[in-house]
Amino acid sequence: MKPITLQNYAEGHWVAGAGGLAELRSAVNGDVVALTSSQGLDFGAMLRFAREHGGPALRKLTFHQRALMLKALAEALTARKDELYELSYSTGATKGDSWIDIDGGIGTFAVYQGKGRRELPNDTILIDGAVEALSRNGTFQGLHVYTSLQGVAVHINAFNFPVWGMLEKLAPTFLAGVPAIVKPASATSYLTEAAVRIMLEANILPKGALQLIVGATGDLFEHLTTQDVVSFTGSASTAAKLRTHPVITRESVRFVAEQDSLNASVLGPDASPDSPEFDLFIKEVVREMTVKAGQKCTAIRRGLVPAKLLDAAQDALKARLEKITVGDPRDEATKMGALVSTSQRNDVRDKIKQIAADGAIVYGDPNASPFNEKGAFISPVLLRCDKPWDARAVHDVEAFGPVSTLMPYQDGADAIALANRGKGSLVMSVFTHDTDFAGDVVHSSGSFHGRIAFIDRDSAKESTGHGSPMPHMTHGGPGRAGGGEEMGGIRGVKHYMQRTALQGHPRVLAAITNRYIAGMPVQEASEHPFRRKFHDLPIGYQLKTKSREITLDDIEHFAHFTGDTFYAHMDEAAAAANPLFGGRVAHGYLILAFAAGLFVDPDPGPVLANYGLDNLRFVKPVKPGEAIQVALTVKDKTLRKPDQGEVRWDVLVTNREGETVAAYDLLTMNAA
Ligand code: NDP
Repeated sequence: MKPITLQNYAEGHWVAGAGGLAELRSAVNGDVVALTSSQGLDFGAMLRFAREHGGPALRKLTFHQRALMLKALAEALTARKDELYELSYSTGATKGDSWIDIDGGIGTFAVYQGKGRRELPNDTILIDGAVEALSRNGTFQGLHVYTSLQGVAVHINAFNFPVWGMLEKLAPTFLAGVPAIVKPASATSYLTEAAVRIMLEANILPKGALQLIVGATGDLFEHLTTQDVVSFTGSASTAAKLRTHPVITRESVRFVAEQDSLNASVLGPDASPDSPEFDLFIKEVVREMTVKAGQKCTAIRRGLVPAKLLDAAQDALKARLEKITVGDPRDEATKMGALVSTSQRNDVRDKIKQIAADGAIVYGDPNASPFNEKGAFISPVLLRCDKPWDARAVHDVEAFGPVSTLMPYQDGADAIALANRGKGSLVMSVFTHDTDFAGDVVHSSGSFHGRIAFIDRDSAKESTGHGSPMPHMTHGGPGRAGGGEEMGGIRGVKHYMQRTALQGHPRVLAAITNRYIAGMPVQEASEHPFRRKFHDLPIGYQLKTKSREITLDDIEHFAHFTGDTFYAHMDEAAAAANPLFGGRVAHGYLILAFAAGLFVDPDPGPVLANYGLDNLRFVKPVKPGEAIQVALTVKDKTLRKPDQGEVRWDVLVTNREGETVAAYDLLTMNAA
């Protein structure tokens, strides 16, 4: 097959490098599959193009519109994913490996589009937390908001997940309204280039939202500014070099790093050779060693087992590893494909040698070339280190391949201390059925890991496993793992936005954030709000109801009718002894029910459904003879479908003295 010449996508055009083409070779047979270069690109102009076109266009869209863009991109990629699967074989990946990369990547877009529409407002500003009262009379209040950074997200990605690695960073970036320049690792950049082509050809993204560099980044870093973000995945040494670039320091450019780490998996002290957790641990270690030929930043590099189970664990692992056939990734019988390149294989062999100095290889020959000579195939290699406290390399050196080291621990505390010797990891898994041990792990080791997965007989069937970063959960870890954080649902979006504390009169804060804030001038309802359609309800439109007295008869009737005859409502003597009430009080639910009775307009109209309450608080008890009154105010609105929208109402229930009795948000679905 003739090699493809890869193209960069710069300033709205596909352009091949002007010279110095590098050869990218198939991991399977060593043939040149692609030629690549970024020579001749004007990197400063690319950044400007993104800032001048991509950023403003994306920032004009609401979170929901950006989420719909992700949805359309996911559909475009799905429709042409066979093209990506085909190319992926040359990276050494089996079909199963490619599924994690390609479908996993598309799935990340799918999760983010859903979360974007459910959890973010149909707006361009994101409110963070509650309104803070900063003054006695409420004329000066505080609120935190996030706004989109006005720069560019530079994504520098690793070779092992050419599609997922790009999409997991793009999803939160686009949702945040920030344009991106993607620089994939050269070795597998032909697959990233193909995925970028599919996205651009679908014509979904605004001009300047996405650019691609296939090759070196030249003087790109020289042109970064304070509004830019660099998000890096790769080796600790490159991360260290890039994060100390003078422009990154001078401009305080946000730098997010996710780098190799010595992830551990612990078989709990409660395990025995017959316990389900023992089998689950063995299966997971082998899976993590062999999926993607162990080229996963989350792979298990250190297996910690109770000392008495060391031999049993070693035997069980060897028995399972013997079943792993290494070979042509296209062959369905193949269990493990190739490393990405022969140079990467040389690196893995070198690292195994260093680790073996701390112990011994107990399975696999790192110098063998299973399947063929020209490809980058290697056997899985299991090492054993009997004295992990005397060892250094096992806790420090990562062989980025199908390599793991088994080591003993004496007790739970020893296991935790050994896990922490990795000096920070992306993930640790713990195979235990003992919740006390699980608690100890989190208290004594939580701060060393970005994620901890507890896997046991009850969760195993549905568990997503040790090594899968889920878009809902944060991915990244402290220390050796880079100190960064990606994804984690909407948390990941905020890495591409700036949080600003706003202070001012509630009228100003409400106008900026397009939501009702108590203390702002309200618009008294000229007709009942339930008679108005979604679009005819302005923020701050308020109905004040009549008041209604709550009698002892009401309380008793409500108690017998609902069956809630709790002493505080029914037993005068017992209620009098209650230090909070000092006598009988109305049910909280009675207050809610009466409040609805006060504010509801009964006739059919645009309100289609009441679907819940948020933030409900009963603030002050109501005694028989007291009266309640309700203020119902339009707080914010989200159009959910062209003809339907969610209205969030601020409901404030007060007594005759004007004191708050109860407060909550009511959610209704209204016709638009
Ligand atoms: P690198 O750190 O060398 O490369 C990662 C990315 O950085 C690639 O896109 C690379 O581009 C780019 N890069 C390298 N140098 C520069 C530079 N000076 N300026 C700008 N970009 C740069 O990692 P590798 O991919 O070579 O893998 C090496 C090791 O890293 C592995 O053996 C493994 O230990 C670890 N690793 C960790 C991963 C993780 O997810 N945590 C993933 C992959 C690897 P280019 O390819 O063009 O050089």
